[in-house]
Amino acid sequence: MSYCVNCGVELEASLRECPLCHTPVMNPREAGSKLPPSPYPTDKGQVEVVKRKDLGILVTVVLTAAAATCLCLNLLVFNASLWSLIVIGCCLCLFVFAFPAIFYSRMPIWLTLLADGVSVAVCLFLLTFVTASDEWFMQLGLPIVAFLTVCAEVFPLLSHFFALSTLPCALCLFIEIPAFCVALELRIRHYLGQPAHIVWSAVVLTVCVVIDIALITILTKKRLRNEVRRRLHF
Ligand SMILES: [Zn+2]
Repeated sequence: MSYCVNCGVELEASLRECPLCHTPVMNPREAGSKLPPSPYPTDKGQVEVVKRKDLGILVTVVLTAAAATCLCLNLLVFNASLWSLIVIGCCLCLFVFAFPAIFYSRMPIWLTLLADGVSVAVCLFLLTFVTASDEWFMQLGLPIVAFLTVCAEVFPLLSHFFALSTLPCALCLFIEIPAFCVALELRIRHYLGQPAHIVWSAVVLTVCVVIDIALITILTKKRLRNEVRRRLHF
């Protein structure tokens, strides 16, 4: 038994329209019955996503134009120092940083990190043409960038050989942070001609050792490890 959707009158099965208000009768379960047209448009009507290639062309053109115009301005107008090298270095860094995201997403992570490190080192090297000497670059800039790059490279290297989960990654991070801080402080002290002591990095080292001990305990006790994973959802 069915009823008219408009006026509610009881309808016989054979009827094709309501005898009272002439509203068409449609049964979607009936074989061959034509469904009413969807009230929603079939076209999605979304703005098309910008293609990577187009975005790549735009980024390359903008960065190249910025570097080239600044170089011209530097050579022709404000030529007291080679300041445009800083702009060129920054444009190079931006291009290298954007490269895996825009141009080649399948680039291995270790290569991406290495390219980032090299581009930052080149950028700092270009800065030496503006500063009085390049001593700061050789003694501070280059070693710090190199050490940071090595620290970052540890993660893709470890995950290549072992299937690293969140907890071992955290342990690795909290070993690297104090190592970097101690190396940084010693390098700065060496550069300034001060005795090789650690002061502020000792605080970082202490905090990280406590965190490392806690992480190692969690990792070695299976029940504790599962409980932490269950509660933190990883
Ligand atoms: Zn009706």
